[in-house]
Amino acid sequence: MGEFDLIKRFFVREPSQAGVVMGIGDDCAVLVPTPGMQWLISTDMLVEGRHFLSTVAPERLGHKALAVNLSDLAACGATPRAFTLALALPRAEEGWLAGFSKGMFTLADAHGIHLVGGDTTQGPLNISITVMGEAPAGTALLRSGARAGDDIYVSGQLGDARLALEVFRGSISLPGAQFEQVRRAMECPQPRVALGQALRGVASSAVDVSDGLIGDLGHILQRSAVGAGLDIDILPCSAVLAAQPQALRRECSLAGGDDYELVFTAAPEQRAAVQRASEQSATPVTRIGRIEAAAGLRLLDQEGQVLPQQFSSFDHFKS
Ligand code: ADP
Ligand code: MG
Repeated sequence: MGEFDLIKRFFVREPSQAGVVMGIGDDCAVLVPTPGMQWLISTDMLVEGRHFLSTVAPERLGHKALAVNLSDLAACGATPRAFTLALALPRAEEGWLAGFSKGMFTLADAHGIHLVGGDTTQGPLNISITVMGEAPAGTALLRSGARAGDDIYVSGQLGDARLALEVFRGSISLPGAQFEQVRRAMECPQPRVALGQALRGVASSAVDVSDGLIGDLGHILQRSAVGAGLDIDILPCSAVLAAQPQALRRECSLAGGDDYELVFTAAPEQRAAVQRASEQSATPVTRIGRIEAAAGLRLLDQEGQVLPQQFSSFDHFKS
């Protein structure tokens, strides 16, 4: 199977897609912008051994490669439109390509986003996706809009992906069904696209949790020049994680990473609107703290005691 056969067999689909004048097959894709909308564009790369384990099923990898990118669109409140796929593969394995493209396109179809181009080359397994989305001009959710007095929220649950990683690393073990559950959280994250869109005009800032709650909330604090108090004993987590020792539970939910939940802020007057956005998007959200004028992040336990800051978020270039 040559390069062009491979593209044709696994990546070219329906010839006409809404808003796509030219998709795969020319030197550039040609897209039609919706009047009054702005483009939102983001790229995320997945490298074997760094972002995923060689044991992951290709279908889940295809899902995750697109999911982490959709999560960035979700964090900005964008409506997904199109994406490109740059793929380096050690060899053209049909079974792998079929699984990978199935996982990727199932998620793409669920969000109405079209694959419009890419690049395919031989090399160590590496998947780079660029997503393009739209939002009405001036409504994109940014990291810089948090204000003192705002509430802080998180969607869904935190920490399961990290718990699964600890099992893979051999530092803990879990019964089979529990392991499958947390492994699913790690390998099949569900990007919070509907919630992000519902929060346009409601949230004052947002970010998606890819490197851990503390680190990613830290981006909001830094860009907004504010501080925060976080109630760490009410962070939403699964029953599996809730049953773990406190130190592990806190580590996973505060600094775990790979959660792909949204952390966002909103003024207290918006509480009912946040609730509506949560219902509209069928996505649970939990209020976990508040933005404060004083710089820094204070972690509070259930008694309101400030805990020493001992967690750090994931950083590829930190030893
Ligand atoms: P060029 O050499 O002009 O950059 P290529 O020959 O690499 O183009 O690719 C041919 C067409 O196939 C282009 O439209 C490109 O966007 C598309 N393409 C290549 N690889 C992929 C891929 N992995 N997924 C989707 N489209 C792809
Ligand atoms: Mg070309």
